[in-house]
Amino acid sequence: MRRLLKRTVERLLVASRAPNFATRRHRSDILVIAYHNVRRAGRQVNGDPSLHLSEKDFEQQLDAILETHDVIPLQSVFERVEAPRRARIVITFDDAYSSALEVAVPMLVQRGLPATIFVAPALLGMTTWWDELGSFPGGLSKQVRGVALSRHRGERQAILKAAECSSGAQADRVVPAIASLEQVREIAQAPGISIGSHTLSHRNLAALDAEDCMRELLESRRWLEVQVPGSIPWIAYPYGLYTPTVARQAADAGYRGAFRVDGGWIRPSADLDAFTLPRFNVPSGMSLDGFRLRIGGLTA
Ligand SMILES: [Zn+2]
Repeated sequence: MRRLLKRTVERLLVASRAPNFATRRHRSDILVIAYHNVRRAGRQVNGDPSLHLSEKDFEQQLDAILETHDVIPLQSVFERVEAPRRARIVITFDDAYSSALEVAVPMLVQRGLPATIFVAPALLGMTTWWDELGSFPGGLSKQVRGVALSRHRGERQAILKAAECSSGAQADRVVPAIASLEQVREIAQAPGISIGSHTLSHRNLAALDAEDCMRELLESRRWLEVQVPGSIPWIAYPYGLYTPTVARQAADAGYRGAFRVDGGWIRPSADLDAFTLPRFNVPSGMSLDGFRLRIGGLTA
């Protein structure tokens, strides 16, 4: 009932064209969208359900963006534009899910839209702990996720060992996989597509000591330089988690900027902190009206 009410309110607000008004207010701002996976039509997957958008939802969202916004490459977020015509959007994907590369990237390329994919090299060709645990009946509880991120510092092996589950333990589960290195290299050649860092092994940087944190930041950047020529020195913090020390280390490691996974719009200004840049995370199941309201700057 509450869901129905929410969708009705969203419908009415969109019909009132209120988002168009709000978008004008955000004409000088930039919204960086964070996606994770996009699954093929008709394909059910297990795992953390909030991360796996349907192909149809993704396509409708792209078309909604094109109606009202300009899509710019991530590397342009600091470029000042005199009197921008429309509010600007940057499209990003975390984790490099295989299906996101196969389904979403061709849709972007077809429309001539740029996007950045944040890659954690140690996850390539693997499944993630959150999808493995989320694929069992009952899903991944907040409490288990909290323990995984704090006690086990977001480390895949340690978490799966503690949970006593291993990849493919149950044949009827379809746990989405992260792309292979070959896939990432191939997609990096697509027009407008750039590859950034998501650290080396997707651990919780906020729970690591300074030395381990620096290794995650530095080695992933170096790895990308060698393995994926043309990659860009930008990073998305795994789980969106960081501390002021982590942000300083990301700057020291030579990145140009670092992203959270929440926080909304970037308002370009002289004192903008390049290492805690906000994004707008799009979970699966968000209604198209809800999406229009968010990119229209009408809801936080
Ligand atoms: Zn991630």
